[in-house]
Amino acid sequence: METKLYFATGNLNKVQEVNSIASALGIEVQSCLELGPLTEVIENGSSFSENALIKAMAVHDQYLVNVFAEDSGLEVMALDNAPGIFSGRYSGSERNDTANNELLLKNMKSIENRRARFVTVIALVFEGKIHYYEGIAEGNIGWEMKGDKGFGYDSLFVPQGYNRTFAQMGPDVKNKISHRAKAFGKLFEFLEKQVSFSKDKK
Ligand code: IMP
Repeated sequence: METKLYFATGNLNKVQEVNSIASALGIEVQSCLELGPLTEVIENGSSFSENALIKAMAVHDQYLVNVFAEDSGLEVMALDNAPGIFSGRYSGSERNDTANNELLLKNMKSIENRRARFVTVIALVFEGKIHYYEGIAEGNIGWEMKGDKGFGYDSLFVPQGYNRTFAQMGPDVKNKISHRAKAFGKLFEFLEKQVSFSKDKK
């Protein structure tokens, strides 16, 4: 039996990336755009988990399907966990990575404590029940941008145990150790159990 699940995102690259793992487990992940028109969602939660749930619930309430959504961001210890849920729009305008990185460097100009972490929270609505999966990547913020293989804050983030930024290492290494990889690993562990359970019941 193929288990079908929707991903509440319009980003088809994310859907494809997730599907490359999910299909091996007999799970088909589709973008929520496949369902038809969607009501606009206002991400006004005060945490990653609230925002992830808002996105997943919007699709669930409209189409009554099994669906998950994710929300991610960067937390810098010395900045009281900023930019946090505002990571994408830290510098004001939506998703201007260069401006966001420049502002972060400026705000950390004289700060010696560079500790930071990337966080991903996935909210899954599965057969009417809500589940959360969190992934964290600990690391440090560099003093200048390095590397061009990433997005967001990748060129400033040096994961713990490494001496290169996410943007220098590129997706092959990053996708094994990232916050997103860890959160999705937990989601798939749960889904794998559901698939084998439904096979056993037959
Ligand atoms: P989203 O929730 O995945 O869309 O992430 C929101 C924002 O957090 C992005 O626009 C980035 O600025 C930042 N971010 C999240 N994940 C990453 C990552 O893996 N690398 C770099 N920046 C990230």
